[in-house]
Amino acid sequence: MSSTRKAPARKKKSAPKHVRASLTEYRRKRDFDVTDEPSGDQSGSGGGKSLVFVIQKHAASHLHFDLRLEVDGVMKSWAVPKGPSVDPDVKRLAMQVEDHPVAYNTFEGTIPQGEYGGGTVMLWDRGTYAPDEINAGESENDAARRALNAGKLAFTFHGERLHGSYALVRTRRGESHAQWLLLKHKDRYAKAGRDIVEQVMTSVDTGRRMEEIAAGENDELETLESSDMLAPMDASKGKLPLPAGVYAVEAAATGDRVLAFLANGTVKLVASGKRSRKTSALLTNSPDVQAALLKVARHRKGALVLDGYLERDTLTVVDILLEDDATLVEEPWIERRQRLENVFTDITKRSSSAPTLLLHPWLAATADDINDAAKELGAHAIIAKRIDSSYESGASKLWLRISL
Ligand code: MN
Repeated sequence: MSSTRKAPARKKKSAPKHVRASLTEYRRKRDFDVTDEPSGDQSGSGGGKSLVFVIQKHAASHLHFDLRLEVDGVMKSWAVPKGPSVDPDVKRLAMQVEDHPVAYNTFEGTIPQGEYGGGTVMLWDRGTYAPDEINAGESENDAARRALNAGKLAFTFHGERLHGSYALVRTRRGESHAQWLLLKHKDRYAKAGRDIVEQVMTSVDTGRRMEEIAAGENDELETLESSDMLAPMDASKGKLPLPAGVYAVEAAATGDRVLAFLANGTVKLVASGKRSRKTSALLTNSPDVQAALLKVARHRKGALVLDGYLERDTLTVVDILLEDDATLVEEPWIERRQRLENVFTDITKRSSSAPTLLLHPWLAATADDINDAAKELGAHAIIAKRIDSSYESGASKLWLRISL
């Protein structure tokens, strides 16, 4: 569900030595504990016969387009401030930047502010490319390497948006930042006067606009968020005694009831009831909780939806509604609880000493010891949840609030 599209997490072999060497600068600039960008540890070569390319639109300190061409198992990269053009009369400056791993080709999302290249990245085009001039006995890769070393590569894009023949021409050498020009050759794909980067404003991968990627918005999560299914579940009024072995018992928690949505390195809190319009203030008023949730969101590959109670300095989590691609609302409470505890094991590993995110404790209670249980929980009221209860929106008879 993360929009940071990455290759499936299958076991891959390590990148070859020459690839790792090419990526030294790339790796030096980035803290992979913080950014979701790929480390390039693993062999990323597509292994296909054709060389691949991507163009990523990147709203860093200055908006630009990153052109990446596969050569020798890495992505040779250029920052093109104005982006590619389909007009043969337009020459675009292209500053060569550090080689990127092939795994970068599926990256779309947000690089955290303060990190190298902090900002939003959109996959703007992708496909294969081929050098226009290939000598006898040369592979496409050999030809691309030779031409780039010589300072002039004529090549043809077979992209979803860019097609036809282009050239990269080096105008100034530089240790790490050689200057090139990117220009369109005249062919049937050339369009005089057309400004393609102004016309095509969406991701080739997800169809999202920059604002949507920046907001961490994601169709699936949006749908869930707006559905009744994900309104918080409330307890109905109940009374003792309770049958044995049917309920789990929690102290009634205090604070603002919220659902916390974590996805793509971003966090959103939605309050239940009438205060739901003031949700952004909730986070601003609880900076420690915001920071803790952000940390979790950035380290997770998939989205997470948690149910909890927000107080100024803490979020007490009572349930989990979604983990990665799995909606859990149909699962019995006891299964969701197990998931939640696993998620918290992971959170605890990363969090500092300050307990800003708390896992709400529960007890299995029998009819006889329910009062003892309540005393043990230090509560004036308890919530008894059927251990087999699915997560229903609104007031439910499956959860009971009992005042003591
Ligand atoms: Mn860039």
